[in-house]
Amino acid sequence: MPEEGIELRERSSFMTAEELIEIAKVFISQGIKKIRLTGGEPLVKKNAKLVINELGKLPIELSLTTNAILVDQYILDLKKAGVKSVNVSLDTLKEERFNTITKRDYFKKVMSNIQLLIQENFKVKINVVLIKNVNDDEIVDFVNWSKNKPIELRFIEFMPFDGNQWNWDKKVSYKEILNTIKKELGDKSFKKIEDHPNDTAKNFQLKNATGSFGIISSVTNPFCDTCNRIRLTADGKIKNCLFSNKEIDLLTAHRKNLPLIPLIKESIYNKKKQHAGIKSFEKTNPNELKNRSMISIGG
Ligand code: SF4
Repeated sequence: MPEEGIELRERSSFMTAEELIEIAKVFISQGIKKIRLTGGEPLVKKNAKLVINELGKLPIELSLTTNAILVDQYILDLKKAGVKSVNVSLDTLKEERFNTITKRDYFKKVMSNIQLLIQENFKVKINVVLIKNVNDDEIVDFVNWSKNKPIELRFIEFMPFDGNQWNWDKKVSYKEILNTIKKELGDKSFKKIEDHPNDTAKNFQLKNATGSFGIISSVTNPFCDTCNRIRLTADGKIKNCLFSNKEIDLLTAHRKNLPLIPLIKESIYNKKKQHAGIKSFEKTNPNELKNRSMISIGG
């Protein structure tokens, strides 16, 4: 969350569960095969159970990204809806640091819910956003965690968004992450493993490990040419790239009974080759991007 918090908005500016399902069906009619619920935090939404149950009835692969705090309350709904894979955002393995970063003290809850997801046979991916001098001293601790746990860790390069005080020097690059692991565990301690098609991470595994680790190098080594994602914000705007500030308002069109397919096509056909047309991040000032903050886009 931005330090200054966020401006609250009228409930009517957000999709109801019914509207979300109806709009999802339009996307599915156009070939969308996978829907991921993200946030902010999707499980704090009052109608999260209804949304999960109803999306679970549609012919798609359903998954979610969560901070895992409420996962135990939703575990049966997730199973019933056929969710197989859950991404958990967790930037540190140190309780005190977790409390500082999240401004909450749910570390033990998050760790026990990760264990619960593993026990219940969900594929668990852990998203770790690395920031220089904040948590980059934990790279090896995280990698070692994947040795005996069936988790897929993904280190994510810190990206510029409104309000996140990003600058080029705060990112921890793909190269630096691999060099740190090589330096501390040895050149031959891990191997490259196969990446799935359209995967955002380049994946590796420690020798004889149960889990794996990957790097999402959106800043230093973008993978936009294989990006097949499209985002719908909670207020019903379609975004064709995380960094794009051009949004098309599907919710208003839906409420006026206007056809959505031409709007969806317009958004997709206008997707830029890379990073929404931003040429280089090196000199980017996040406050000049005029984009939403990450919490109001959905990761
Ligand atoms: S096109 Fe945009 S959303 Fe897709 S990978 Fe590139 S930066 Fe990310």
